[in-house]
Amino acid sequence: MQLIRRSAGRRLRAFGAVLITTLGLTAAVAATPATAAANACLTGTLVFDHLDAEAGTSKPLRTQVARNANWELWGRTGSGTATRLAAGITGASDGRFTACHTASLAEAYVRFRSSSTSMWRVVKAANNTTDYTFDSARRTNVSGTHDLGTVKVPSTLQRAWKVVDTLNVLYWKRANPSSSCWTARQSDGRCDQITFVWDPKVADGGYWDYPNTNYVFLGNTMPDSKHLILHEAGHWLQWQLYGRAFPVVDGCNPHYIEKHSSESCAWTEGFADAVAAYALGDYRYVYDDGSSYSFENDASTPGWDDGDTVQGRVGSSLLDLWAADGPDGGNWNRTIALMTRDFSQDFREYFTEDRPAAGLSTAGAAERILAGHTIRY
Ligand SMILES: [Zn+2]
Repeated sequence: MQLIRRSAGRRLRAFGAVLITTLGLTAAVAATPATAAANACLTGTLVFDHLDAEAGTSKPLRTQVARNANWELWGRTGSGTATRLAAGITGASDGRFTACHTASLAEAYVRFRSSSTSMWRVVKAANNTTDYTFDSARRTNVSGTHDLGTVKVPSTLQRAWKVVDTLNVLYWKRANPSSSCWTARQSDGRCDQITFVWDPKVADGGYWDYPNTNYVFLGNTMPDSKHLILHEAGHWLQWQLYGRAFPVVDGCNPHYIEKHSSESCAWTEGFADAVAAYALGDYRYVYDDGSSYSFENDASTPGWDDGDTVQGRVGSSLLDLWAADGPDGGNWNRTIALMTRDFSQDFREYFTEDRPAAGLSTAGAAERILAGHTIRY
């Protein structure tokens, strides 16, 4: 469900089923051969340029290392055709790759994929669910370590790697102590994968396609905003936390941060807004044109409607409950844990039923947070 000013909301499309993950995080990492035993390695750092909507409407061009992005080593020992020899992910902090084979190679190159292990991927279309790829320069007679230096994603594909890199910040905060999966609903090796469809030829998008493909669809420029990427991922995450269930949403087209929609719309959209801001550590929504909207609000904020049918009231309440100085222990972890057990149709149910059941407060500071955002139960 896209958060835009003009139109929006949920759109339904009939495409294929979600692909279930086949390769766990540990499997992909373990596929990287040990450097010590290698006779041929290609190393380097994967980077991409991106237009930084979070920096404002000028959207300055920045360069970022691509973290936890899939790579494959391709090559041949003799005169045959190249085959896939190894696979792994770039460094979680530095985007480095070390792609090795245990014999010297007549020719070798690294293929990069717009995906991260089997946890998330960016594909070309709903009916062409292959990720984007590009290859490094080819090296011949590779023995020992050849440093490819900085490898940059082609500019026509850079937005796909922006999505791949941005999803890290949510994955790292997913607060699932029991598996490498997105939520504790699933166990290692059986994780659901989040799929983004990004097509540079398509301007339209900005929604999570529930209950059809359950993919996120992004238009050409939408990856410029990390908030937009993470808001849509937030819808998918809520559905995952609920064990592939989602509130029945009505009155959500269009929806606005500061205006009345409905209890169900404000809950699901406010949660998605809060997911993006929490993952990025701020208190706003940033549109893909670089404009932004603050979630700061109280009873006298001009233009804001009151109560729990307003997504900005719900989202700001959640962010304050999870804040470093908030009543929930300084993070969202206990909310994530309770959502893994208890489905909530709306914010009222989350606050008045699920929080007490999980031992989270609804009085004192928590009550004052909601009241400060015009929500009273
Ligand atoms: Zn939405």
